[in-house]
Amino acid sequence: MAEAKATASTALQGVSATQVLKMFIDGQWVESASGETRNVINPANGEVIAVTTEGTVEDVRKAVAAAKRAFYEDGWMETPASERARLLFEVANKLEQRAEEFAYRETIDNGKPLRETEFDVADTVACFRYYAGIATKPHGQTYEVADPMQAMVVREPIGVVGQIIPWNYPLLMSAWKLAPALAAGNTVIFKPSEVTPVNAIKLFEIFEEVGFPKGVVNLVLGAGATVGNEIATNFDIDKVAFTGGTATGRSIMQAATGNLKKISLELGGKSPNIVFADADFEAAVDYALFGIFCNQGQVCSAGSRLLLEESIYDKFIERLVERAKQIKVGPGTAEDTEMGPLVSEAHMEKVLSYIQIGKEEDGATLVCGGNRITEGELGKGFFVEPTIFVDTTPNMRIVQEEIFGPVLVVQKFKDEADAIYLANDTVYGLAGAVFTQDGAKAQRVIRKLRAGITWINAYHPTYNEAPWGGYKQSGIGRELGTFGFEEYTEVKQININLQVEPTGWFKN
Ligand code: NAD
Repeated sequence: MAEAKATASTALQGVSATQVLKMFIDGQWVESASGETRNVINPANGEVIAVTTEGTVEDVRKAVAAAKRAFYEDGWMETPASERARLLFEVANKLEQRAEEFAYRETIDNGKPLRETEFDVADTVACFRYYAGIATKPHGQTYEVADPMQAMVVREPIGVVGQIIPWNYPLLMSAWKLAPALAAGNTVIFKPSEVTPVNAIKLFEIFEEVGFPKGVVNLVLGAGATVGNEIATNFDIDKVAFTGGTATGRSIMQAATGNLKKISLELGGKSPNIVFADADFEAAVDYALFGIFCNQGQVCSAGSRLLLEESIYDKFIERLVERAKQIKVGPGTAEDTEMGPLVSEAHMEKVLSYIQIGKEEDGATLVCGGNRITEGELGKGFFVEPTIFVDTTPNMRIVQEEIFGPVLVVQKFKDEADAIYLANDTVYGLAGAVFTQDGAKAQRVIRKLRAGITWINAYHPTYNEAPWGGYKQSGIGRELGTFGFEEYTEVKQININLQVEPTGWFKN
């Protein structure tokens, strides 16, 4: 039985530690001239699951040349929207047929439990379908301007687009970037995180299969400091779209100034989850857990700061801790696992160092977790217990800085004004939620939150149809929805003279 399961897993893996995975540049699968490779690690046990070729600046330049030629010379910029839609629908269909394999591979690459990766794959399919549909919908506008002129506005692709993503949703983030860019008619140079590249590589196999013309979609693998920086810097890239840490976003913004490329940045957060005393108690506890411990807390929009009204503070924490202690931590491939390992050893060390800072910070009290799990099989992986600090205050580093792991900090508030003040007391502005049964209060609070993604009596649900992005240092621009499509277009006004005759401005 165990053997049969192992065979099934090997088939689902689709990668091996002996075969070097290549990049896709100008319609060809290529190894980097660097000759270097990188191991991809399963964070649940530290084993090598795949090996990738390590791209260089030169590889980015080759991909850019191909993307430029495909856009301007080979005619991709004139490809009918219906054809772009057809290709994207095909991608969605093929991905759906291979959903089980993609979910399994995402789990062994990133660590998150299968129930999450199954959901991520379904969401990825939906994202490709959504943007396939958007491609053919009306996008222009017409204006009544001064007679006899008629003005109209058309949306056109920006051109060559560079895209860089992180490791926390390797497949889904690929779709959030690639689907709208291709639907809008751009050509793309795409870089996944070097930590979790395998499903992006497999996705590009599907792009090849459905028949995207040469040079339209290019995949370059490698490090941020080399490949990523070249994407941000290259003068022939017209736009760079980035998701990742705020510090990296800042350096990308600076690198992009050379040719003033357009930028969109989806960055970090330290999002508040506000619970008033009149909230549905069990629902609020449940969402507080989901808000921080889903995907091991490695979610940019995680509800990592829980703000509790003082009259329910003790009771809420007691129930929260009781439930957090029952979360089943284990390898993502095990059916009963509720929380997996962190993505890498280096990231685990970063999270543990923040927990140490929390333990040392004056006033903060650790009431749950706080350790790496070292016993048994889990000791081989990068597992950290669900961790909760209470009695935290705004001056603490664990309250101000993004930890990006399963670490919740809890703050107490007195009233509505206090809750809003504490919620906004951060350089970030990505997400936030409020729990209360008072509808008017919920609206008042949510409207005062300086954040781009918000919920009332919920935390985390995200939809392809609605815009995603942050205020303040959480980013620039929006992904998803029609906003996400528009980020990949230029706007052109066309003025049409309906009565063609000399102006008479100059006498002779
Ligand atoms: P990261 O910034 O270290 O890396 C993200 C990507 O950027 C990777 O592909 C990396 O190789 C590349 N990169 C690194 N340095 C670069 C440079 N100098 N120039 C160009 N590219 C470079 O982030 P991470 O650790 O992979 O991901 C975690 C971060 O991502 C968190 O801060 C999280 O909040 C953020 N994130 C934000 C969103 C959002 O939608 N706002 C979504 C997911 C993750």
